[in-house]
Amino acid sequence: MSEKIVIVGGAIMGSFAAWFLRRQGFAGDITVVEKDLTYRFCSTALSAAAIRTQFGTPVNIHMSLFSVDFFRRIKQVFGPAADIGYVENGYLILGGPDTVADSRAGAAMQRGEGADVIALTPDEIAHRFPYISTEGVGIGTFGATGEGWFDAWSLLSLVRGAARDLGVRYLSGEVTGFDVAGDRIRTVRLADGHGLPCDWCVMAAGAASGALMAKLDQPLPVSPRKRSVFSFRAPLKAANFPMLFDSSGIWIRAEGEGFIGGIQPPADSDPDATGDFEPHHALMQEVFWPALATRIPAMEELRLDRAWAGHYEVNALDHNGVVGRHDEITNLVLSTGFSGHGVMHAPAAGRGVAETILHGGFVSLDLTPLGYHRIRLGTPLPESIVY
Ligand SMILES: Cc1cc2nc3c(=O)[nH]c(=O)nc-3n(C[C@H](O)[C@H](O)[C@H](O)COP(=O)(O)OP(=O)(O)OC[C@H]3O[C@@H](n4cnc5c(N)ncnc54)[C@H](O)[C@@H]3O)c2cc1C
Repeated sequence: MSEKIVIVGGAIMGSFAAWFLRRQGFAGDITVVEKDLTYRFCSTALSAAAIRTQFGTPVNIHMSLFSVDFFRRIKQVFGPAADIGYVENGYLILGGPDTVADSRAGAAMQRGEGADVIALTPDEIAHRFPYISTEGVGIGTFGATGEGWFDAWSLLSLVRGAARDLGVRYLSGEVTGFDVAGDRIRTVRLADGHGLPCDWCVMAAGAASGALMAKLDQPLPVSPRKRSVFSFRAPLKAANFPMLFDSSGIWIRAEGEGFIGGIQPPADSDPDATGDFEPHHALMQEVFWPALATRIPAMEELRLDRAWAGHYEVNALDHNGVVGRHDEITNLVLSTGFSGHGVMHAPAAGRGVAETILHGGFVSLDLTPLGYHRIRLGTPLPESIVY
């Protein structure tokens, strides 16, 4: 009898796990269970799909570096027609005068880990990006290469299509529970009453992962938090426009003929957003736009085209992903909780899931720091650069 793997959730995390399992030689059955095969509300489809190497946690930098290489080689991997619209214009992260020493130290650490991050003075920022006001800016850190953005939907379509071509089955269904015997999940239960027997189960249900782990009586502080994205035009053309993170909390990048941007809501008005996909228009009018126009005066005249809201799968312990084997349920492997940086880290996470199942542990990149142990022990691996 061939081994059976059931993957819960068929967006970017689930699909990369399935594809890497096949690429690394798993010949048994892989069933990806997805409750909405239109992917309308999944985080992947609603993401800003940017990639950065500017992180405070070395393992995140290494996951990004793997993706950068993967994205640059996308045609080699998926064939000559593969195109994810990968643009490497860099992240420019602005800080006030009080953050200069910390930002310089952060950039030095990132360079030490292999990232191409440089620190820019206000004059250097004004020279490179003359449309940005440097009022109140003390420093900018900038990914000279290896940072930018891409099209998440195209990436999902490519990896999902490639997984299917390798015999991975995508099943329409909602996982509602699990039959556990001893220290193993025996069957994954679906809402229609069917059960899928499994030798391994992979938890890749994004923002719903915490609620599903609760059905196993296991803690996982991952829940949906709403993030709005505003798509707009403005009288500004700049070929080198970066992914800009301002010290005010706003972010903005170029998208097609215009721009997209957003800002996190204040922590005290960021509740569990289950079922809520209504863009936060007041945040746009009252906070985002004024802050944007202060930083980039040409944005005073922006024209909003559309807006949408998606869910960050926030890991409340430390805003970092949870990847690897569960400590008590020995055939359960997690790949979730990336808190807003999961599209960029999905290739490395998927490869790590495949290595865990096929080789008994991480082989290429050690993802142990992202393990479930920190959930069990309540020992965070805090990520200092969170948006
Ligand atoms: C506005 C916004 C901007 C973002 N910007 C970035 C960015 O710039 N860069 C970046 O890297 N990341 C970004 N992210 C985060 C990124 O989108 C997520 O980290 C990533 O998509 C998570 O992938 P996932 O596969 O775990 O989750 P999802 O894409 O949400 O997929 C989970 C899937 O599981 C399915 N599912 C859930 N429950 C069940 C069930 N019970 N049974 C069956 N199926 C189920 C869902 O239908 C869904 O398709 C952003 C997110 C948002 C919302």
